[in-house]
Amino acid sequence: MRDKDFLMIPGPTPVPESVLLALAKHPIGHRSGEFSAILKRCHEGLKWLFQTENDVFIFTASGTGAMCSAMGNLVNRGDKVLSLVIGNFGQRWAKIAKSYGADVEIIEVPYGQAINPNVVRERLAKDVNKEIKIVTVTHNETSTGVTNPIKEIVAAIKEHGALSVVDGITSVGAIDCKQDEWGIDVLVSGSQKGFMIPPGLSFLSASKRAFEVHKQCEYPDFYFNWTDAKKNYDKDTTPWTPAINLIVALDKAFELLKEEGLENIIARHKHNATLLREGVKEMGLKLFVEDESIASYAITAILPPEGISVPDIRKTLKNDYNIVVANGQNDLKDRIFRMGTLGFCSERDVLTALASLKATINKLTK
Ligand SMILES: *Cc1c(COP(=O)(O)O)cnc(C)c1O
Repeated sequence: MRDKDFLMIPGPTPVPESVLLALAKHPIGHRSGEFSAILKRCHEGLKWLFQTENDVFIFTASGTGAMCSAMGNLVNRGDKVLSLVIGNFGQRWAKIAKSYGADVEIIEVPYGQAINPNVVRERLAKDVNKEIKIVTVTHNETSTGVTNPIKEIVAAIKEHGALSVVDGITSVGAIDCKQDEWGIDVLVSGSQKGFMIPPGLSFLSASKRAFEVHKQCEYPDFYFNWTDAKKNYDKDTTPWTPAINLIVALDKAFELLKEEGLENIIARHKHNATLLREGVKEMGLKLFVEDESIASYAITAILPPEGISVPDIRKTLKNDYNIVVANGQNDLKDRIFRMGTLGFCSERDVLTALASLKATINKLTK
């Protein structure tokens, strides 16, 4: 059957019908009062979801754009950046920092594990001259399905005084992430993950401390510039033409998100991921991340059973059950498959996916 595909990949995620219909509207002028009112509501919605009093800027880009904005507004050539890497997306921070001229040191753990906050504390304690300016870390590592203990990691960074720059791309709006309470200096996210809209917007929120560091940045990024973004944000507008229709869609998505409430959204993700994990184990399949304390509520990585290949599982799920799941990335390609419970995903969707996965395995076993 056509037109019934259900995305269970970790982005893009499914989009509710009311949001799709909002996308179908004619563009409106971005310097109009009508658009400013929509943008203002989106700014308020973002602050609510980021759990911050900071401004949250909207950039026209996928999530990586906001990551570039973070480095491009903080880093001067030769600055020391410490990157905590537990997967592909943690690696991306290191690559971006290097591209802006930073001197990058990496702490990496085997994929499937999380960063131990004490390891961070010990490394930073050795930096007696306070040379490390920035520490980058991924809250939820989408490539492995591991959620870092971000509160404790950020606390360790705070003791040292470096800026904490956090990828919250698959945590904001899915897994509890309290920017202000936990003291995260820069937090970024992207629209096609927990926000229930298509790709094209990325979000960034910077603390006062981060803004002070930004002022010392010699050659700040032009398109993603924080100073320009702030000047315009204060007037409920944007420096350049924004992705108007996506912002209209975001406004609509916030209606749904606010109606559900942040606590309920976080509880739903936890419930659905746990249901998925339990169901997968009952089927006799192995989870890539067995430790419940670091298992992601946004994405679950699963090992294929003996004798059945990941491409066959993905193909059967797609062709016979209209369910799209993700392969592993890089070294994990064909070794795991990943099922998202991120964004617009209900308990029914998870139950359907579990039944479909079971039927898929049965078919492929025969
Ligand atoms: C999706 C994702 C990104 C950004 O990817 P884009 O393709 O640029 O949107 C970054 N970090 C994590 C953890 C992600 O899941």
